[in-house]
Amino acid sequence: MNGEEFKASRHAVIPQAEAQAPRYQAQVDLHLHTTASDGRLAPQELVRLVAQRGLKVVAITDHDSTAGLAEARAEAALHPGLTLVPGVELSTDIPSSEVHLLGYFVDEESQEFQQLLEHFRHGREVRARRMVEKLNELGIQIAWERVVELAGGGAIGRPHIAQAMVERGYVTYPQDAFARYIGRNGPAYVEREKLTPEEAVPLLIRHGGLPVLAHPIESGNGEPLLTALKQIGLVGVEVYYGHYTPEQVELLLGLANKLDLVPCGGSDYHALGTPGEVEPGMVGPPLEVAHRLLALAGGRRRQVRH
Ligand code: AMP
Ligand code: ZN
Ligand code: FE
Ligand code: FE
Repeated sequence: MNGEEFKASRHAVIPQAEAQAPRYQAQVDLHLHTTASDGRLAPQELVRLVAQRGLKVVAITDHDSTAGLAEARAEAALHPGLTLVPGVELSTDIPSSEVHLLGYFVDEESQEFQQLLEHFRHGREVRARRMVEKLNELGIQIAWERVVELAGGGAIGRPHIAQAMVERGYVTYPQDAFARYIGRNGPAYVEREKLTPEEAVPLLIRHGGLPVLAHPIESGNGEPLLTALKQIGLVGVEVYYGHYTPEQVELLLGLANKLDLVPCGGSDYHALGTPGEVEPGMVGPPLEVAHRLLALAGGRRRQVRH
């Protein structure tokens, strides 16, 4: 079953028992986006939402930015049962596809790290501008100024372009823009300069981060890639993610255990409001996993200090 079929099957007749089951059972969500990148909720709004849903440990992982963390931390401090893990998501390239790496507990204060993020965000802007030009050439009349406005000062991403296309009625949902125009093989796709995963893992470690491979099924290359990255310091891999089926979760859990990687995960929530969007509380690792990650972070901090 591919992703689309899986999504469609969710809207098929739902057995009564399942329909009545609580929708928000997960206590942990280690993958969330805010307006600091391509999410639609401000950090404060997102933290309020996860607190309201009873989540216990959440990580904010914006693309190439830690700008949402201060506001998120301030709000999290008002919710005693909630632990906020600071994070970031970096996109990297392998020849066949894109590989995303989450970095938990990165040193936000590091000037060198912030300069790198700034460099990546600049690359995003140059690339998004070229994509808008390509779309304009294809007759899609969206304005660059509107895309910038939608990004609201956060790291610009393709979802902002998709949103501008939805607004002008060129597509119904953001994912249609990806499928028809701005996906990796689409006519308006433009590459941007990216690291390789073998560069990103040590980079995150150098800046105090715990590197975790995001949505591994989307990257292909499963075990060989994980094995190679584990050797250079990868600590975890997403297992409990989005629309992954119980079979896929089982398989990934086996792989994580075999390679001694922490089985992480989360909703990758962007608050796009699209049908079938996975929301905080719907999917995530067990609480013990979050505790393992927090213990690793404690150990690493002590190593840095002494
Ligand atoms: P970018 O970082 O600009 O390359 O855009 C990648 C982001 O676009 C991802 O983090 C997702 O938020 C979003 N995205 C990727 N593929 C799709 C898709 N098929 N439909 C909707 N959003 C997508
Ligand atoms: Zn995103
Ligand atoms: Fe990602
Ligand atoms: Fe993400």
